Amino acid sequence: MNSPIADLMESQLPMAEVRMDLGGFITHWNESAQAVFGYSTNEAVGQNILFLAPTGADGDDGSDADLGMPELHLGDGAPFIEVQRRTKTGDVIRIGLAMDVERGDDGMPESLVARFANLVKPLTTGQLHRLQARIVESSEQGILIVDGNERIVYVNRSFCRITGYRAHEAIGRTPDLLRSGQHDEDFRAQVRAAMSGQGPWSGEIIGKRRDGTFFPQSVTIGTVRDDEGQVTHAFSIFSDISEAKDYEKRIDRLRHFDELTGLPNDALFMQLLSQQCASVLRRKLQGALLLLGLDRVTAFREGMGDEAADELMRQVAHRLRATIRDEDTLARLRGDRLGLILPGMTRREEAARVAHKIEAALSDAIEVLGHSVRLQPRLGVALFPDDGAEATHLLRHAELARLRADSTGAPFLFFNPEMNHRVSQTLSIESGLRHALANQGLTLVYQPKASLRSGRISGAEALLRWVHPERGHIAPAEFVPVAEESGLILDLGQWVLEEAARQIRQWMDEGLTPPPIAINVSARQFDAGLPGRVSAALARQGLSPQALSVEITESLMVRGHDVVIPIMNDLVAHGIGIALDDFGTGYSSLAYLKRFPINTLKIDRSFVVGIPKGEHDCAIARAIVTMAKQLRQELVAEGVESVEQMAFLRELGCDHLQGYLFSQPLDAPTFAQWVREDRRLSLEQ
Ligand code: C2E
Ligand code: MG
Ligand code: MG
Repeated sequence: MNSPIADLMESQLPMAEVRMDLGGFITHWNESAQAVFGYSTNEAVGQNILFLAPTGADGDDGSDADLGMPELHLGDGAPFIEVQRRTKTGDVIRIGLAMDVERGDDGMPESLVARFANLVKPLTTGQLHRLQARIVESSEQGILIVDGNERIVYVNRSFCRITGYRAHEAIGRTPDLLRSGQHDEDFRAQVRAAMSGQGPWSGEIIGKRRDGTFFPQSVTIGTVRDDEGQVTHAFSIFSDISEAKDYEKRIDRLRHFDELTGLPNDALFMQLLSQQCASVLRRKLQGALLLLGLDRVTAFREGMGDEAADELMRQVAHRLRATIRDEDTLARLRGDRLGLILPGMTRREEAARVAHKIEAALSDAIEVLGHSVRLQPRLGVALFPDDGAEATHLLRHAELARLRADSTGAPFLFFNPEMNHRVSQTLSIESGLRHALANQGLTLVYQPKASLRSGRISGAEALLRWVHPERGHIAPAEFVPVAEESGLILDLGQWVLEEAARQIRQWMDEGLTPPPIAINVSARQFDAGLPGRVSAALARQGLSPQALSVEITESLMVRGHDVVIPIMNDLVAHGIGIALDDFGTGYSSLAYLKRFPINTLKIDRSFVVGIPKGEHDCAIARAIVTMAKQLRQELVAEGVESVEQMAFLRELGCDHLQGYLFSQPLDAPTFAQWVREDRRLSLEQ
């Protein structure tokens, strides 16, 4: 068997021979010397032999003095010693050198002969074959040799390790032994052609192991010919690349799947959605896209850290996967959202049913690292092809529906075209608001609160008013959520703070003693900087902290108790009072109220409405008052419009009243007038 290794081993360099005179000046320079050192005869003859010394003119010394220009044993049959010499290219080579003296007839030395030879000892044919056999046998790559009849005549150790076959099981068989059936006829024909000598071939082949499992192999196929050029043998050298393939797969997974939940990610989801859209259109079917937002996961992440939030997300994914059908696609999308594709929906109701199922699946509390979390899923649903036949449209529409569900508190909403309209309206509100903020287009009005003991004004709430140049008066209920969503609320809130402080200062300068004024603070404003901002605004106007208080709502809690409570404590430490607004509409529980340094609870108007006739509302009002009493908090009833309501609340022990019964929100001069006149709420019935 011929092999490239053998070729290399046999190509020993003929000996380089250099003759010189007794002074070392070169007189003869043979071809081999030229091959070894790179200098032509012309360049070398006449030079002193020292020009081959490794320590050149650049002063670089030849590190090992013995290998430089050592004393040589002169004489016949002097052994080769290893020396270093520099070639024309500047490379320093290690080479064997034997020096001889040539003598004249008189026996006197006449010239010197230097012979340079590769020190590698040539192998005997027997040694060479044994060595080749060893290398082949112990190669890390599997090697298989077949004879001219395609019978396996040899396999090496790695072949056995990779395939699981013992040598005697393979020998005598054909390479079909490893056939996996994973390749088509064309591919197999190529491989067979290579085996029969039509050029070498390399590529990847799926092989089958003895135990039936498949393995990807990187293969090189070649042939061996005899002196007449006939193919006598073919060989295949292969390595098992399962691991590399696994790695490739892992990278592929990372590109397309969310590592945390194992669900498809945004990129793959969009691909799948496009495919589903196309397939649904082709088959004249319908499908649904559901987008699920889990704001609380985001809040949970802020409060409890990534590890806990990741665990929560994993559990959510697990629950949902168990809820839906196999053919439905569930994906984890950016921003703690999940996407769900339901192919083959024929009616809206079916999508609605799935939405309900999801809601139900997530309604039970989830235990995460010792915390019990109750999620409030908000779903947006878009149907295809009705709401869009393209993946990007559908996704946008489902997202609009989801956002709308989010802002209205509905568990799920179907997309409708009006939502698109809403978006443009939202944008117009946003830009209008920005303009108003920059051009004194906003004002504050003040709604007095009255004490239910004395009837006197006990405080006031500052409320924002905005008159749109075209649309006229726009209610805060419409623009505040837009400002919150766009982040504009931060500037807006700062304006309210500064304006209220400025107004209080102005009243005081006019000789008035205004009651404490409460301003509303949105969840987004409630960050660690808030206490500092309020204090600074008060300080700028030379006001004491008692002049102003803040109203917050329970929506704040999405930021996580651990974040919110320290900020509340800081506010109180700055002397700023906190009222909990719209009380009763959230998830108020005595357990958490106890942890909040709040001094006032405002019973939401929705409970006041049903008083005194609605049994349910009366029961809630009673419970809230009882709770507040236990917590020693001041109680304000909001939206009191009738004397009956007032009487009932007063009877319960409510402390203050705010509502049209006493007063609408008033502009600043009117409010000042009321304070000056010491207007009172009539407590008569
Ligand atoms: P809120 O803080 O609960 O304010 C009370 C709302 O109830 C006010 O509506 C007030 O005019 C109204 N109201 C008071 N008494 C009665 C009554 O007897 N009957 C009825 N039907 N309504 C009554 P308004 O001014 O439209 O404000 C609505 C909401 O907008 C506020 O609810 C508050 O959440 C938000 N808001 C108002 N101003 C601001 C502000 O400066 N900043 C922030 N972040 N939110 C604000
Ligand atoms: Mg309020
Ligand atoms: Mg309120």
